[in-house]
Formats: sequence, C-alpha cells, structure tokens
Amino acid sequence: MNKVFIAPGRYVQGRNALHQAGVLVGALGQRVMTLWDAQVKGIVGETLLASLHGAGLDVEDVVFNGDSTRAEAARVAQLIRDKKVDVIMGVGGGKTLDTAKAAAAAAGVKVVTCPTVASNDSPTSSFTVWYDEQGNCTGFESWGTNPALVLVDTQVIAQAPVRTFVAGMGDALSTALEAEACFKARGPNLAGGTATMAARTLARLCYDILMEHGLEAKRAVENKIVTPAVENVVEANVLLSGLGFESCGCATAHMVANCLPSFPECHGLMHGHEVGFGIITQLCLDDDMPVERIYRIVDFEIAIGLPVTFADLGLPGVTRERLARIGEICAGPGSLCENHPFPVTADDIVNAMIAADALGEERKRLLKP
Ligand SMILES: [Zn+2]
Repeated sequence: MNKVFIAPGRYVQGRNALHQAGVLVGALGQRVMTLWDAQVKGIVGETLLASLHGAGLDVEDVVFNGDSTRAEAARVAQLIRDKKVDVIMGVGGGKTLDTAKAAAAAAGVKVVTCPTVASNDSPTSSFTVWYDEQGNCTGFESWGTNPALVLVDTQVIAQAPVRTFVAGMGDALSTALEAEACFKARGPNLAGGTATMAARTLARLCYDILMEHGLEAKRAVENKIVTPAVENVVEANVLLSGLGFESCGCATAHMVANCLPSFPECHGLMHGHEVGFGIITQLCLDDDMPVERIYRIVDFEIAIGLPVTFADLGLPGVTRERLARIGEICAGPGSLCENHPFPVTADDIVNAMIAADALGEERKRLLKP
C-alpha cells in the first residue's frame, strides 16, 4: 500500500481572520454562496458579508436547515447550479461544513470551510458525516478532495461555548493515540493508503500541544479571550487533528465514540465528548500502554472536563447487557477496532469500557481536593 497524505489547499487562522475572507475567497471564484444558519449569520454575518462585498464578489446567501442530510445537500447543490456559483462557503459547525462539502462535490465547485467552533475534525477533511431526518448518524462519505480553503477566526472561536472547545480537544487528543495504533497494525488511513512520517509527526505534535496548553487555553476561552495558548490549541483542534486523523487513521477511540449516540442518554453530548471516553476505553484495551501515560491522559481529561465515566456520559450504572451491543459492533467486520496489532473481541471492548469507567472514577476521587 502507498503512503498517502491529503490536506486542504490553504489554511488561514488568526484573530479577525474573517476580515480577509474577500481576498482569500476571491482567489477561488467570483460568485460565492454562503451557507449558514440564522444564529451563525447573526454572529459573523456582518463582518463576512462586508469583506466579500468589499472584494467585489457576488454573494448568494443560503440558510442551512440544520441537518447534514442527503436531501439538504441535494437542495444546496441545486441552488449552486441554479445560481451559477463558483465557490460555496460553509460557515458554522460540523454539520454546516459537511453539507457544504457534499453539495460542492455534487455540483462540481470549490468549497471553503469557515468553522465558528473548534469542536471537531470536519473543517480540513474530505468527509461528510451523514444524518437521517430523525438526527441519527447514518455513516460517512469521502469526496476525494479536501476544502480549497479553511478560514478560522480565533476571535469568533473564543466567543463560542467552552464545551465546544473542550469537545474539540477530545477529538484532537485521540488523534495521536489512534495514529499509533494504526501504525503498529500497519492499518489503512482514511486517505486510501498508509501514514506518512509527516502525518505521524503532526499527530504527535497535536497531542503535545494539548497536554502543554490545553488547560490554559480552556481558561482563556472561559473568559472569551484569545491568547497564544488559544491559538495553539485551535491549531491542534482544527488543523493538526484534522490532518492527523485523516492521514493516519482511526481505531477504537472513534469506534466506541461512534457507537455511543445509539444510547438516547448520550444525545446531549458532542462527538468530541464521546471520543473522550473512547480514548480511555482504548487505553484500557491496549496492553502496550505505560500506566503513567494512561494516568496522565485521564487526569488531563478530568482537568479540562471531558467525560471519563459512565455517569459523565449520562449512563450511570449501565448494564453489561446494554454495553454488549457496542461490543458486537466494535468486533464486527470493517470496524475501526481492526486497526490494532491484536485481535479485538466484543468481550474485550465491554471489559475495556467497564475498566475505563472504574479508572475514571478512581482518578476523579484521587484528584478531589
Ligand atoms: Zn472525530
């Protein structure tokens, strides 16, 4: 298998970076469609539209219906064709960005992602996560090409709810751990090959930045300010994690996280929160993981407020029988749990989840003042 590394065409991050949208997007096309919901437009609309109009671009303003469904992507793709748009700009959270990517692929135009939260790996990736009309996740799809531009305004990110920022750190913290597992197993990445040294190095850097600056950055975002720590962690959450997961691969942390939404109790959680618990499950599954490192990771998760126990997930006292469904899916064909250098059974997963919960409980108790 070849080594493959994929990435967006350009990544721009900074305080008030949205002011440069006109020049940056104008380099990609003259007719621009903005896709956002009313709330996001209320926050960044004035700034972004002023920049686009200031650069002399023609703007089609489209309201996102709130779900990344196939029907919504088809509706937006048709609008792109009808309005003869050159480039679509998804502005907002992961679902808006994912819909913009799918619509762009269907209509054959360029896509710009402009995340207003640093909560997940959507902005840089070639993927759309699909949902049905009831809000259930139904799978994901790659468009074979990454966004032409990722535009990240850290001033906007720092005004978003801190729980979105923490979720992003959960998604990012898993990147190096899953990359290591994939590499040891010589498993495939999500780009159709195996990991380059470049991607593995970015994944490790992502981890190091979070461990060094994560807590400090969270404190800054709680106060809605941008500091160097915030800039570093936004880069880790959005760029390094995005490049790392796609070009290194995923393993148990994401597989468990992807199964958790099947519990109604977990519906209030964001993807990155679920990955947070998935990480500890993966650590408890792997016999080649130094215990000091495990404690360090769990303690970091507790410090920034990621879920580390069943109770944190909204599943206090969950039975082994209920967890067995997750174990079966994780041990099934095509599972990301195949990306470990050892076989993973349904029982292994259930035991690792129970061990993760017990570990999380104990570290919380020990950390209490
Ligand atoms: Zn993820």
